[in-house]
Amino acid sequence: MHEELKSSFQQIITAVGEDKDREGLLDTPKRAAKAMEYLTQGYRQELSDVTNNAVFSSDADDMVLIQDIELYSMCEHHLLPFVGRAHIAYIPNGKVLGLSKFARIVDMYARRFQIQEQLTHQIAQAVEDVTGARGVGVVIEAKHMCMMMRGVEKQNSQMRTSVMLGNFREDAKTRNEFLQLLKR
Ligand code: ZN
Repeated sequence: MHEELKSSFQQIITAVGEDKDREGLLDTPKRAAKAMEYLTQGYRQELSDVTNNAVFSSDADDMVLIQDIELYSMCEHHLLPFVGRAHIAYIPNGKVLGLSKFARIVDMYARRFQIQEQLTHQIAQAVEDVTGARGVGVVIEAKHMCMMMRGVEKQNSQMRTSVMLGNFREDAKTRNEFLQLLKR
């Protein structure tokens, strides 16, 4: 994969009219290939890898909220970054997940070519699958470089997506509690 990426980046550099042998660009294909491998490593991970041994029994049945998880992904339409924050809430049903694992779930799906709607859904589904929660809510707020750097060049618009599963979907009170907590 590394060699293939490297020669692809070489071609991009040439295609835009640059001199690939110019000093400042000499190692760029190698560096860009390495960066791209890192930014797409989610393709080579599975949910069981990232949640490994971190599901614990618990009697807790109150809402757990993990707020402001930093998120860096790339849109599948332009391969440009979108960056923002994810907020995850769930109501345990006998099992809780270690705190750091939520960030790892976010990273695993974010390090793929994505659209924000699908990313939000995959994170919610993963939390439900791993914990068997009574309900899961995920909100993502992100800014998309494909809107900010090109096209409409709207620098301040932010996209907000949400997915509600289980009692977050069925019960307006639970859903509102989550959304109210996010406002603080
Ligand atoms: Zn885009």
